Amino acid sequence: MAEGAAAAVLGGLFGDNPYFQAGFGLMGVGVGLTVLRQGLMLGSTTLRRRLLVTLEVNNKDRSYEWFLTWLAHSSNAVPQKRTTSRWFRSHQLSVETAVEQRSNGSSSAMFRLVAGPGTHWFRYHGAWVQMKRERETRSMQLMSGNPWETITLTTLSRDRDLFPKLLAEARDLAMKSQQGKLVIRTAWGIEWRPFGQPRQKRPLHSVVLDAGVSERVEQDVRAFLHRRQWYADRGKRSAVYRASLRVYPGIPYRRGYLLHGPPGSGKTSFIQALAGALSYDICLLNLSERGLADDKLIHLLSNAPERSFILIEDVDAAFNKRVQTSEDGYQSSVTFSGFLNALDGVASGEERIVFMTTNHIEKLDSALIRPGRVDLNVLIDDASPLQARTLFTRFYGGSNDIYPGVVERLAEQLEHLVAAEMDGGRRISMAALQGLFIRNDAADAVESCRNLFVGK
Ligand code: ADP
Repeated sequence: MAEGAAAAVLGGLFGDNPYFQAGFGLMGVGVGLTVLRQGLMLGSTTLRRRLLVTLEVNNKDRSYEWFLTWLAHSSNAVPQKRTTSRWFRSHQLSVETAVEQRSNGSSSAMFRLVAGPGTHWFRYHGAWVQMKRERETRSMQLMSGNPWETITLTTLSRDRDLFPKLLAEARDLAMKSQQGKLVIRTAWGIEWRPFGQPRQKRPLHSVVLDAGVSERVEQDVRAFLHRRQWYADRGKRSAVYRASLRVYPGIPYRRGYLLHGPPGSGKTSFIQALAGALSYDICLLNLSERGLADDKLIHLLSNAPERSFILIEDVDAAFNKRVQTSEDGYQSSVTFSGFLNALDGVASGEERIVFMTTNHIEKLDSALIRPGRVDLNVLIDDASPLQARTLFTRFYGGSNDIYPGVVERLAEQLEHLVAAEMDGGRRISMAALQGLFIRNDAADAVESCRNLFVGK
């Protein structure tokens, strides 16, 4: 009874109230719109999911570098009828700088403009692809200090097969630019990154060493690689062999080489030429680099890219000082024992070839030169009479400006000269001879060479 009366009173109050009715109406419209919007959003998400396909490439992955190379190549290419990709003109660009360091020390830089952070469109094999390049500004890669980057590619679901195709094209392009070239990498934090552009390989015979030296080192490396392959092949075939690899820690997966001798005798040039001849890359490690501590070194040595020599130059210079600590109290340099540990490494199935050079072998600790760390110790010395003669004939022979007979006569003169000076305890470096030949004609070179010998 009482309830019925209350309803009647409320009905009387609001039922005929036009303001209240309008409010209700508005609320209904609002709710309706919200439902519609959410429905649309849901619909578009489902549609996107069904119709579109997305690929994320992050700069943690190697394919990121390849994709950027492809990007630089395809967005700078002059559009032709037969090109597979065409870019919509981008307004957000970023610059990619490539520095090429030549062996004579000079360098040149090339700039390429690529699509920068933002949204871009391009057509690939007839399909439209949206590319979103995003940079994470709040967090950085811990070791290298570079921002994280992600490239997200979106296209129609039916064109999903284009992604593997595009990535394969990018990989082949990156590989092609390195083919027949020597890639040098340096350490960036705990990563190995290419240093400059891949370089032309230097022919092995262009580095003139004393009789038999070059062949000795080359044969040793080849024999090691061959042995390694032998074990790897058997490891693949049988589980027993695989197990035996684990239980025999004596199997030489590593090989260490030390080339020692005066500066300018061709140590570095020879290692680079040998790497090129074997289609290996070089990972250049600077032990005195600030911030390189024992743990990073171990990581770097055990994570070098496949088919690469690790090259440590002037290995004597790294340990003259006491252990340094940076302002925040962290160890900021490599200790000698840390270096030995890193060289010995954890037992890994990967091959590792380490080349070290020094101008002062007498400064090296005997613990470093023992077999297992240094398996082949080779002296690369100043010019011998034969080396001087060979370099001379390589340099001036075959030129139209001078008779072959004259080259031979001058080469012989030079050989005698070097032999005579050596008897008097004076030597000349191969680098000094090379510099002399570059600046002079053949006869002048032999004449001016007399002033360049230095006493020991
Ligand atoms: P190192 O590492 O012994 O100090 P490098 O390999 O850096 O010497 O040589 C310095 C320069 O001298 C290079 O440009 C190289 O071409 C030249 N050079 C040195 N030794 C030789 C050699 N044995 N044969 C040919 N060139 C040489």
